[in-house]
Amino acid sequence: ELNSLMDKAIEIIKNSNNIYMASHVDPDGDNIGSLLSMKLSLKKIGKNVNIIKVDNIPGDFKFLPSVDSITDQPFDKNVDLFIALDSGDMERLGVAKDFALCANNIINIDHHKTNTKFGNINIIDSKVSSTGELVYLLLKRMKIDIDEDIATCIYTAISSDTGSFMYDSTSSKTHLIAAELLNTGMNMNKVVINLYQNRSLEKTKLFIAALNKLEFFQEGKIGIVSITQEMLKKSNAKMEDSEGIVSFLRDTEGVEVAVIMKEIKEDEIKVSMRSKEYVDVSKICLLFSGGGHKRAAGCTIYDSLERSKSMILNEIYKSIEEK
Ligand code: 5GP
Ligand code: MN
Ligand code: MN
Repeated sequence: ELNSLMDKAIEIIKNSNNIYMASHVDPDGDNIGSLLSMKLSLKKIGKNVNIIKVDNIPGDFKFLPSVDSITDQPFDKNVDLFIALDSGDMERLGVAKDFALCANNIINIDHHKTNTKFGNINIIDSKVSSTGELVYLLLKRMKIDIDEDIATCIYTAISSDTGSFMYDSTSSKTHLIAAELLNTGMNMNKVVINLYQNRSLEKTKLFIAALNKLEFFQEGKIGIVSITQEMLKKSNAKMEDSEGIVSFLRDTEGVEVAVIMKEIKEDEIKVSMRSKEYVDVSKICLLFSGGGHKRAAGCTIYDSLERSKSMILNEIYKSIEEK
């Protein structure tokens, strides 16, 4: 099934010249790594590729080859093909949604189980660890020579979405792909340092402020923390610096669901959730028009921080009781 979808996608790619892609809102390593590996590969076969920047690219990813090609310069809307990567629905494409809508074809490559299948070709497998894994399989099928730069981007994608090969979406195939990527001679240490060993002082300060405000509910099964604009100001940090706090909270003994509530502005709260063993957080986020995976999901609530928090907690209580 996946193979025949890939063959259809390859046919469309062959027949397209102006190919557009875009980062998703709040881009992560899987999204950016997938985009750049795809871009480098499509360049190799002579395509004209544009990547639309939809949101700020976190500093952790600035080391990636060709990252500067993700730009917000004005593009013309002559789009043969739009390739969406790691984007569960069209809203995730932010301002780039318009480019997808006017494309002759949309190829949608993703691993979110909540994916709305908005492409005319949808290569969706919610069992794979990352979109990077799917991109790898597609590039192999296209017989692209996966060089060190392409491997670096795909490795970044896979490592990011598996929490360094720890989450239960990590399979033996994931490791086999990682091994093949390493065989290209890519520098794994460089990826590790940039992704995991490069925390800024501002980020550390925000981390400390957040850890001072952790709250636990349901005998410690739920951990929750809020990041306010005030906290950002005090730490001289940006909201993207809150990345990693929610997984730290999940890693606490006894915690099943960890939640971070980010105050983007008044009455706009971005919620990120993580779970450990049995709660499907994508189901909870779907109730608030978001989505994601069983163990990692998100949504935005347009209400006060306090009210958003109690709505979210209520739903988590229910899903813990259902168990
Ligand atoms: P994060 O919490 O790291 O922002 O996102 C966790 C997972 O949930 C990611 O796979 C991300 O794509 C997905 N996700 C986060 N926020 C949203 C959202 O608002 N809508 C949808 N559909 N997925 C989201
Ligand atoms: Mn993503
Ligand atoms: Mn992903």
